[in-house]
Amino acid sequence: MKNNKCKFCGADCEYWYNINEFEIYGCKNCKTSYTSNMPSEEELKHYYDGFNFCINPKSKIRIISNAYKYFYKSLNLPNNAKMLDIGGGGGFFSCAFEKFGFGKAVYIDIDNQSCEYAKSLNISKVINADVRDLKNISNEKYDFIYCRHVVEHLTDPIPIIDAAIELLNKNGLFILQYPNSLSLERLASKCFYKERMETLLKSNKDYSYIKALKTIFSYKTGNDVYPPRHLWGLTACGMKEYLSKKEGISYNFKLKSITDKIYSPYYTGVKDSPRLAMFLARSIRGGCHVVCSIRKNS
Ligand SMILES: [Zn+2]
Repeated sequence: MKNNKCKFCGADCEYWYNINEFEIYGCKNCKTSYTSNMPSEEELKHYYDGFNFCINPKSKIRIISNAYKYFYKSLNLPNNAKMLDIGGGGGFFSCAFEKFGFGKAVYIDIDNQSCEYAKSLNISKVINADVRDLKNISNEKYDFIYCRHVVEHLTDPIPIIDAAIELLNKNGLFILQYPNSLSLERLASKCFYKERMETLLKSNKDYSYIKALKTIFSYKTGNDVYPPRHLWGLTACGMKEYLSKKEGISYNFKLKSITDKIYSPYYTGVKDSPRLAMFLARSIRGGCHVVCSIRKNS
């Protein structure tokens, strides 16, 4: 973002703070934040080499379950629907989709080991590719596209969002899920809070404890902006502004808790997160997942 204009709403961005050697900028309007000095392709390649392969069999039980059967049913998809699973990780979402008879899935992931695992689940089509090539990988249209916790890892989240919308069938549904950068929910965890404070203090020489405290409870929270892992801190407000400029779609937003059984199946509970503190934090600026449902008009 060379001209310091927000990619999502077009407003001016300003320097917020450093996270280690990375400079974080944020939009004055929609509070979307991003890494100004993005890591190079080479650094990211090295970082993601084998990074994604962390398959927990318990996750399989949680996702290939009746809860997901009802979740998919609630999406009102046509019979024998076609699903595209972007950055599908363990492949459980595709697997559940097929196992419960909703249709066929195409799974795409950059990580070779994840793809090998997904193949072992007998998913119809497993493609080992960089999701940023989506436009060149698939020209089929889909009834359901799921992209969960991928866009915040990319140096530019916009092209993949555009490409996924292009790949929707009429009346097709695209669920785009990413961390709610404004959420305070994770700060209820003592470990997360401590780590966040320590990182701000260590990375910004002019920061006092009070300044760091004010920052993390302000709109500069940047929940989970943590380069080189998460390069973007996205908000519902910024995404809404971006989608409002597109024609032929309708959309809605939900902010879901880290404890949500459907949108947060990998969360198993953290002992240092008191439930009351999580509830209070969540009630201020919503849960830590943004779930954006985009429907192509028929
Ligand atoms: Zn903005």
